[in-house]
Order: sequence, then C-alpha cells, then structure tokens
Amino acid sequence: MTLANGRPYLAIPGPSVIPDAVLQAMHRAAPNIYEGALPEMVHGMVPDLKYVAQTDGHVAIYICNGHGMWEAVLANTVAPGEKVLVPASGRFGHGWAETAEAMGIEVDLIDHDRHEAIDPERVRAALEADKAHEIKAVLAVHVDTSTSVRSDVAALRAVLDDLNHPALLMADCIASLGCDEFRMDAWGVDVMITASQKGLMTPPGLGFAFFNDRAAEVRRGMARVSGYWDWTKRAAPEMFYQFFNGTAPTHHLYGLRVALDMIREEGIEAVWQRHADLAGAIWAAVEHWGAEGPLTLNIPDRALRSHAVTSLRLGAPHGARLRAWTDEKMAVTLGIGLGMSEPDDPGGTGFFRFGHMGHVNGAMILGLLGTVEAGLSAMEIPHRKGGVTAAAEHLSGCFGA
Ligand SMILES: *Cc1c(COP(=O)(O)O)cnc(C)c1O
Repeated sequence: MTLANGRPYLAIPGPSVIPDAVLQAMHRAAPNIYEGALPEMVHGMVPDLKYVAQTDGHVAIYICNGHGMWEAVLANTVAPGEKVLVPASGRFGHGWAETAEAMGIEVDLIDHDRHEAIDPERVRAALEADKAHEIKAVLAVHVDTSTSVRSDVAALRAVLDDLNHPALLMADCIASLGCDEFRMDAWGVDVMITASQKGLMTPPGLGFAFFNDRAAEVRRGMARVSGYWDWTKRAAPEMFYQFFNGTAPTHHLYGLRVALDMIREEGIEAVWQRHADLAGAIWAAVEHWGAEGPLTLNIPDRALRSHAVTSLRLGAPHGARLRAWTDEKMAVTLGIGLGMSEPDDPGGTGFFRFGHMGHVNGAMILGLLGTVEAGLSAMEIPHRKGGVTAAAEHLSGCFGA
C-alpha cells in the first residue's frame, strides 16, 4: 500500500523544489548565443542578483556547482603557499578547507562542535596571534547545511575591523541566500559565493561569486590566476561569451530569470520572513514531538538555527527508516544526515534533515510535518502527539492582527 501517487515533494536541502514557472521557462528551443534576446536578458539579471545579495559590488557567474565556487574565489584571491583561516561548524566548512588545501593553500582550521555556530572569539584569538598578517582570508559558511547552524557573519567583520586585520572576509551562502537574511555590503563581506539550486530555485549548474572592490584589488595583485576561474572578465565582459568564458548555460539562464522575477516580486525581506515563519512552524512541531521520546533538533538555540534547513537526530537507525517510509508511502523525500556519523553509527543513520529553502509555502510545510508525524506513529517511535497542531498554531499567528 502506498499513498505516494500525486505530486512528489523533494524536501532535501538542495536541490530544492523547482517552481513550475522556472521549468516552463526552460522548455524552449535553443537560442542564439551571439546576439539578440539572450545577451540582453543576462545583462538584465546582474542587478537582480546583486539585489538578492544586497550588494553594489561585482558578480561573476560560473557554470558549476557549489564545490566549484569554493575553488573559483580562492583561485582569484589566495596563492598556493598563502594561508587562510577556516572556522568550521559543519561538513561544508571542512569541505571548503579541503578545497583550499588541495590548491596548495595553508589552512588554519578552527573546528567547532557540531551543535555550535562559529565563535567570533575563537576567530579573534587566531587573528590576534597572526601578527605578521599571513592569513589572507577568513572562510566562513553562513549556514552549514550539515548541522543547520547559522553563524553571525557580521560579527566576524567586527572582529577583523577591531584588530585592523586585512584578511578578506568570505562567506559561503550556498544554503542561505534567498532564505536567511543576508546583507553583503552592510555586513562587510568582501566575497560571497552561492549556487543556483537552493534558495535560487533553479536546477544545479550555476555558481555565483560576488566581490567588492577590496577583493578586486587583491585579485589584481595575484601573480597568476587560472584563465577559466578568473572573475575579472566574467564580472565586466566586453563580449557576451566572456560572461561564461565560453558557451552560455542557455536554459539555466531562462530558468534563473524567472526565479529572480519571483524573488523581486515577493521582495527579499518578505522572502526572508516567509522562511522564518515556516522554520518556526517546523521548530514548533519538532520541539513538541521531542518532549517525549528521542527526537531532537541538532541546534538547541533557536537564534542559531537556519531558516532554510533543519538537521535532526532520531537515533540509529531510525533516521534512515523514517526517510525510507516518508519517501515510499507519501512521496516526501527527506535529506540524509551529512557529516553526522557517530562511533556507534558510522553511517549517520540516526540523523535526517528537512530542506525548506526556496519555493516552499505553509501548506507544503504542514504536509511535510504531517507526513513525518504519520511516519513516527507508523514506526512506533515514541513522540508526543500533536506536533502538527503546534505547527498550525504557529502559522496561524504569523499574519498579524
Ligand atoms: C550545497 C552546499 C555546498 C555545495 O554545493 P554543491 O553544489 O553540492 O557543490 C557548499 N556549501 C554549502 C553551505 C551548501 O549548502
């Protein structure tokens, strides 16, 4: 028996749900890449991308995923043998550090517990010890998608300014952009990366590097930058092909155009508020269920929880069992636990995640939570019943008087 026939819901933290309007915009004949509507459309997307990032700086667009963007921005700013500081609070922080190491960059790693956000005081101590200013950049993941912790990026800028340390502040907003509040210029971020398949609601395949004049200056001082990763012409193309250093990712661009229109129309602050309200419903449900039984949120402090992704612990092997049940019986696909293995659970089967980024609304979140409550009951996993009611109560209070 299954109740899975109907529209499936991919509730993993990327790729996210793709709006029908985005899919429809992509369904068309191949366009001319030399002149006409496509080049015009891409030039027009630049201000909208900067609006989503809240920056007046520069943007370079790449055909790659998030891993590519880790490499792209390092290639422009840090030479082999130079040093970066990586305060990691989850798998993705470590991933960025590994990318740097593979490029011959020296990494100073601050390893946080997986329930913690980046601690600005630990970053301060590391920068204070760097009297010779060997650290060229601080690489901070805004929302680490494995732990679902959200770190305070502006606090890192305050530390750098306080110490007069010249390192660039770089933020990975791949999970958070278009979901959690992020203000690149106001928060003093020099370089920010993101990708198309999470808050931007477009299939995986596009990456974006935003950078300010300080970072552009560092780029100009580099002895050598790989021609393909170089952001200079991508951000200021004289010819259309220079946007992408080759053939444009034509259909992704049509999709992204529509996604950016949707964000513009809703307004970025309303987009952030929607994600906050939906995340609040998820927390209300999970805290209610967890009042009896083993279910817990990975991040105990609400102020440090992402509004785009939620990492949960149910105990091995029940996270994996629940995912299999919701997928098979109800067509709701939950995210796997990532970077959460434990000595007695090397596969991390005790963990799972909800992706609630991008094209999601209250009905979808209530459907997700109702499905999970049904699964907990069906598998006889102890929990306090009524989490969905708690979520509905939360949502009912989101609309003001
Ligand atoms: C998804 C993600 C990445 C990696 O992106 P890919 O497209 O899978 O390479 C990096 N950092 C964060 C914070 C992410 O959420």
